[in-house]
Amino acid sequence: MELRFHDTMTKEKRRFQPLDPENVRMYVCGPTVYDFAHIGNARPVIVFDVLFRLLRHVYGDGHVTYVRNITDVDDKINDRAARDYPALPLNEAIRKVTELTGSQFHADVDALGALRPTVEPRATEHIAEMREIIEKLIANGNAYVEQDHVLFSVGSMPDYGKLSRRSLDEMIAGARVDVAPYKRDAMDFVLWKPSKAGEPSWPSPGGIEVEGRPGWHIECSAMAWKHLGEQFDIHGGGIDLVFPHHENEIAQSCCAFHANRMAQVWMHNGFLQVEGDKMSKSLGNFVTIRELLDTDKFAGRKWSGEVLRLAMLRTHYRQPIDWTAAALEESRKTLDSWYDLVGDETKAAAAPDAGVLDALGDDLNTASAIARLHAIAAEVRAGTGDDQVRLRRKLKASAMIMGLLSATKAEYIAADPQVVAVDAAAVEALIAARAAARAEKNWKESDRIRDQLAAMKVVLKDGKDASGTPVTTWEIAR
Ligand code: AMP
Ligand code: ZN
Repeated sequence: MELRFHDTMTKEKRRFQPLDPENVRMYVCGPTVYDFAHIGNARPVIVFDVLFRLLRHVYGDGHVTYVRNITDVDDKINDRAARDYPALPLNEAIRKVTELTGSQFHADVDALGALRPTVEPRATEHIAEMREIIEKLIANGNAYVEQDHVLFSVGSMPDYGKLSRRSLDEMIAGARVDVAPYKRDAMDFVLWKPSKAGEPSWPSPGGIEVEGRPGWHIECSAMAWKHLGEQFDIHGGGIDLVFPHHENEIAQSCCAFHANRMAQVWMHNGFLQVEGDKMSKSLGNFVTIRELLDTDKFAGRKWSGEVLRLAMLRTHYRQPIDWTAAALEESRKTLDSWYDLVGDETKAAAAPDAGVLDALGDDLNTASAIARLHAIAAEVRAGTGDDQVRLRRKLKASAMIMGLLSATKAEYIAADPQVVAVDAAAVEALIAARAAARAEKNWKESDRIRDQLAAMKVVLKDGKDASGTPVTTWEIAR
């Protein structure tokens, strides 16, 4: 199957051809672990999870390496550690902050149904690789040492600015550049800087005597190199990372390895806003993944991770997305109706629909893939007998490619935070007892059982299957 992805570098959709189809390699910039992830951070997690699943489908589960880093050295982490644990030595406080935030992040993205990446490297475990790249850059004349800092010299790279399509002059004119005394050129950026007393520090490169710590951009070049090699297939992240972060990653990796490119394709997700406004703490519309899952802060109720995922995928990843209560409610109703159709089918016992795969292969067009799922759901409703079973399995398998409908109906209902947990086996047993009572025409008993189920918020629907045998299905009243 042909895959086509939009490449930020060339600004066009291009046919995807991995460097090595036996090992398709992608890197996505992960979180800086100092606080709960917000729902905007969930967007790249969900979008690139769908890409990972699609690549696994096309090239085979064992033939895709997905690296998403954890940035665990950063000023924001140091500030948070000093604020939250003033009594502890800074390094211990930092460890507490990064461990706690890292495990919160995992719990959140697990709830969103995201597969764990193949590797989740931590910046602090790759300091040696960072130093090695910095030494190469100094040796190649692309970096210089000044006042215990190492700076990348943007003037040494003719292609600098190609990803974000800016010339150096435009950058200087447009940016509020920090004209630090150790910079030879205003746009030069930090590869390494001295640590302040008490801060995490490591032996420095470039013959600098005092200990220091890495800049943000060099972390990703080092982790991508270690786990994916000098060049790889896809590099992803949010659109805000194009400049300066990704531009600087390219400068570092290409100059260190004498390569003309770092990744074959650069993919960036658009930004998320909330009910038409930029999400910000000052506007009071800032919402974390955890608050959506566990509290009624957004739209007055809790939402399951799968509803959040579907709501995120309704918009094409490159478009801005407006996060609204209406979209969440609609996604919830859609999932309710699809789970009613697929019931307790436990696995993808069919091939995914070709239309769904084509939509995803066309620059990850999840909006059109979801429209196709609605069409399949309509076919399930109209179908009968074996045909209906086949369509129901197709619906499930096609949704699972996007990480949707992977639970059973009973699990989905149990995971809905608004509904009292019901014991599906107990419900089935009561339905069987009621069917037996009805077969004996014991209407009093059958009504009693129906009332008992109603008290558990279980609604029964009596019907007949293709051969005319009575069948009873059930759902939870909402
Ligand atoms: P950060 O922790 O801010 O570096 O962000 C982690 C990831 O989330 C990056 O890929 C960002 O581009 C992405 N991101 C941050 N805010 C938003 C947003 N409002 N909408 C979409 N993506 C975002
Ligand atoms: Zn990065």
